Amino acid sequence: MKICILAGDGIGPEIVAQGVKVLDKVGEKFGCTFEYSEALIGGVAIDATGGPLPDSTVERCKEADAVLLGAVGGPKWDTIDPSIRPEKGLLGIRKAMGLFANLRPAVLFPQLKHACYLRPDIVENGLDVMVVRELTGGIYFGEPRLEGEIEGERYGYNTMVYREHEIRRIARVAFEAARKRGGRVCSVDKANVLDVSRVWRDVVVDEHAEYADVELSHMYVDNAAMQLVRDPGQFDVIVTGNLFGDILSDEAAAITGSIGMLPSASLGADGPGLYEPIHGSAPDIAGQDKANPLATILSIAMMLRHSMDMAEEADCIEQAVQKTLEQGYRTGDIMEQGAKAVGTKAMGAAVLENL
Ligand code: NAD
Repeated sequence: MKICILAGDGIGPEIVAQGVKVLDKVGEKFGCTFEYSEALIGGVAIDATGGPLPDSTVERCKEADAVLLGAVGGPKWDTIDPSIRPEKGLLGIRKAMGLFANLRPAVLFPQLKHACYLRPDIVENGLDVMVVRELTGGIYFGEPRLEGEIEGERYGYNTMVYREHEIRRIARVAFEAARKRGGRVCSVDKANVLDVSRVWRDVVVDEHAEYADVELSHMYVDNAAMQLVRDPGQFDVIVTGNLFGDILSDEAAAITGSIGMLPSASLGADGPGLYEPIHGSAPDIAGQDKANPLATILSIAMMLRHSMDMAEEADCIEQAVQKTLEQGYRTGDIMEQGAKAVGTKAMGAAVLENL
């Protein structure tokens, strides 16, 4: 299996290093070999090449069976020309690889219940929501877009646009995901105000005809944002567009209280998928052996499951993470009284030991 590593900026290289050790251990244990190539993205790519996504990075990613990404961005590049900011590298690689579906599970680990921001009675039945976000369309890519000046004052606009085929394929990913989980999809839009959302809703309903075994409901995005904190247990799979998905997936993640624990997968119609922790480059703790590597390690479990058909190996990683938490190991972000405080490397080593 060929894996392209995009370590990126900030804590990226530290957490990815622990992920690679886990992959090697899985290879050893199950008798398979992972070959790695490395490429630049984000701020480090800007420093080396003048842009956040060199062509060679795109080529290397496309040649691989899967891509593992750390994180991009940091204060060093906050004030540079917006057209070459590190985040452009992320948007660019998703577009170049045709990764139109972003799967983000927000799970409350029983061992980390104390970290959850919601009242215990609200999450007593656990929290396990999968947000399926459309990733390559909508307002982040829509044209026309402009920052300009009119009558002496600055103005700007973007365009939220979705074509039918873009909605159909993301709806299918959500329905398929629901079949492997709780069998329920909630499609989130703003159909009371936006024309683009009315098209979204119609197409999702139409596509649902092929998935009669899955329950479909609809919710406006403002209500969905409220319902996620009022009663998150009502959701199984949420499917939504790029902008709403960006916000709701972060909200669902934040509720768990453990941003350093949550993985993600970005998938296309075929070709390699891209796997990354949901958190950013955490410049405040970069290079200090403080970052939690578990979101990256769990992203590798998703990689094995979705891109390599290695469900048993994926389960094994997830169980090793659970056991590590049960043993009381905690990085600073999930620390609690009486737990064993560890850094990035020691947390990685504990998972390896449990593997
Ligand atoms: P962030 O996720 O990097 O950090 C938010 C807070 O969470 C910080 O206090 C950080 O220390 C902490 N944190 C994040 N990951 C952690 C981990 N693994 N272990 C322990 N603590 C962790 O978000 P931010 O501060 O808003 O952004 C920092 C930079 O990252 C910005 O340049 C932003 O653009 C970029 N960013 C990148 C991605 C990505 O690469 N996918 C996503 C979000 C933000």
